[in-house]
Formats: sequence, structure tokens, C-alpha cells
Amino acid sequence: MRGVGARPRDCLAVLTGVALCGVSGSALAQGLPNPPTPKPNPTVVREGPVHVPPDASGIDLSEIDSNDLELLYFDPAQTYLTPYIGRAFTNALQFHKKKFNWTPWDRTTVLLKDFGDYGNAAARGSPNNAVLLDVAPLSQTMETFSPGERFFTLTNHELAHVATMDVWNSRDASWRKFLHGKPMPLQEHPESILWNYLATPRTNVPRWYLEGSAVFFETWMAGGLGRAQGGFDEMVWRARVRDNDRFFSPLGLESEGIAVDYQVGVNDYLYGTRFFSYLALTYGPEKAVDWLRRPEDSKAFYAARFREVFGKRLDEVWDDWIRFENKQHDYPQRIEYRREGEGLVAEIGGPGAPGKEEVITYRYSRCPAG
Ligand SMILES: [Zn+2]
Repeated sequence: MRGVGARPRDCLAVLTGVALCGVSGSALAQGLPNPPTPKPNPTVVREGPVHVPPDASGIDLSEIDSNDLELLYFDPAQTYLTPYIGRAFTNALQFHKKKFNWTPWDRTTVLLKDFGDYGNAAARGSPNNAVLLDVAPLSQTMETFSPGERFFTLTNHELAHVATMDVWNSRDASWRKFLHGKPMPLQEHPESILWNYLATPRTNVPRWYLEGSAVFFETWMAGGLGRAQGGFDEMVWRARVRDNDRFFSPLGLESEGIAVDYQVGVNDYLYGTRFFSYLALTYGPEKAVDWLRRPEDSKAFYAARFREVFGKRLDEVWDDWIRFENKQHDYPQRIEYRREGEGLVAEIGGPGAPGKEEVITYRYSRCPAG
């Protein structure tokens, strides 16, 4: 859910935390008396995921590798999940490779963790393709999230992040080879922002772009079950229109909109998702997805790519969308039929010049019979 391409994470800190938890877990286990070992029943044949010995560079993690996936997890607690997560990952990857015309630059690392009592996930495309999954159940309070099975939804969503951030063409490939990978921007080395942009231009995008596209895919891939068509999103937008609430511009959203938002970026999900749905509804899903792709001759910067695909500026279409959300701008607002003598007059009316109603009139008269 969290796209961390725009906000790099310290991988070392994560792995150190993981290693520390492994140590404390072992210490705890030593302090407890050993429970009696249950006697195996020779008539029961159990088949399940095979336990894999820890082999993740000295960290107390187990690892399963394929050509596309490096899955890190804690054995035995999470072993039962691994076949299913492998399948969910492979299905999602196939879908995204096809839709984005994308070949992943590198294998995706997936880390399963369970350090909190809530489900969550994060993804990044720089310096490597990676996904973190919190395996606890997702919160569905107030229907703010409407997932299908959680790993199905999470892998569909997170791999959409990986795809949109990792997409590349031959120009990006040249920079990635020249720079020996996909550099992350580092605070201590501001010039790394430039290297990051040259190698992975689509990690340098606003968060609403990342979350809007990922929620759009999450909903599409579940046949319509997802936040893009969820009851909570619909309620929020209808309430905002009813209350004449203000709507942020793309710049206002990033500068103020997420600061008044409990600091968790929910507005990015709400705005991004709704904007992508508007694009798909108005211009077709193919155009919305084409914006996210990185063909050979495409513009690197996301807003320039928008103009290339839609033929309009991003701000202009954003304003169209805000007008679309507000039913006061719908035309017509009024449909009326009335009888005038022997004829019938139909009128439709709606917003016209500022403060005025624009009316279109149709006059009907009886046709002579015979
Ligand atoms: Zn996300």
C-alpha cells in the first residue's frame, strides 16, 4: 500500500530490525521449558510446504528463490503461506508485465513480516524491486478498504507499484548500466537525486500517482472489488460535494492536502484513485494505463508523459475532473415538458454563463394524420 519509491527506506535498518527480532525470539525460546514432543501418527501422511533452513546472508530468515522472486520469510511460522504467496506473486507479475509492456529490471525481493497486529504492505523500485508484506489481517473498519483475499489484493497492488516505478526504455537502461544499477536518492549526497531520476524517472512522481494507479489495478484485477469502487471512497466524494468542500489541485494536494490528513497520506489514495477512475471512464482504460508505460519515444517526466498521451495538460484535465465530481456542473439539471395550445414544448436547462441558466428548447407539433 505504501509506495516508498518517492520516500526511500533504509533497507539496512529493516534487515537489522529483522535480525534483532530473530535474536530476541531465540532468547525467549531458551527461557521456556521444552514441551513434550507429540508422537507422530504413522497412518497420517502430511504434505505441505517444505521447511527451508535459514539462508539469507546470516539473518534468521528462510529464503525461496525463483527467476522472478526472492521470498524471505520466517520458518516455520510463515512457511504455510509461501506456496500461496508465490502463486499470487506470479499471477500479479504476469498481469503487470502484459499491461505495462514491462520486463522487470531485476528480480523482486518479497519480505514477509509480522511485527504488528495489522496488515499492511510497501513497495519500491529503487535501488531494487522489493515488496514488504505484513501478514496480519487488514483492517476493514468503516469499509475504508475493500480487499478480496489479502495476499491476492496486496500483491496485485504492490506489484503495480513496482511496475510503475521500474518501467524502463533503452535510455533508462543505458543510465542503469552506466550507474551500475538504480541509485537511491540519499540525503547526504543531493546529486544522487539526479542519478535517481536518470535511472528511474518514474519513481519521481507524486504519491497520488502511485496510489491512484495501484488502487485502480487492485480493483481491476479483482473484477471490480477494491477501493476504486468501494463504498468509503464514494461516501467521501459525495459528502465533499454536498458540503461544498474545497478540492485540492495536484500541487495543493502534495503541499497542503496530505498535511491536513492525519499525516498518513489518505488523501493521496482518495484523490489518486478517483482521478484514475475518471481518466478511465472518460478516455478509456487503455489511455490511463498508457500514461504509466515507458515506451521508447515516451517522455520521462510523468506530467510530460500525461500531455503526450492525453493531448492536454495534467492541471487542465484535473480541473475537468473536479467539475465532473460536482453535480452542480452537470448538464442538464432540469428537464421539463409543457403543453402550449396544441403543441408540446420541451426544455432542458443547466449551468451556462456565470450565474445564468442555459436553456435549450424543443417544440413539438402534432403531425397531420393520414
Ligand atoms: Zn500503495
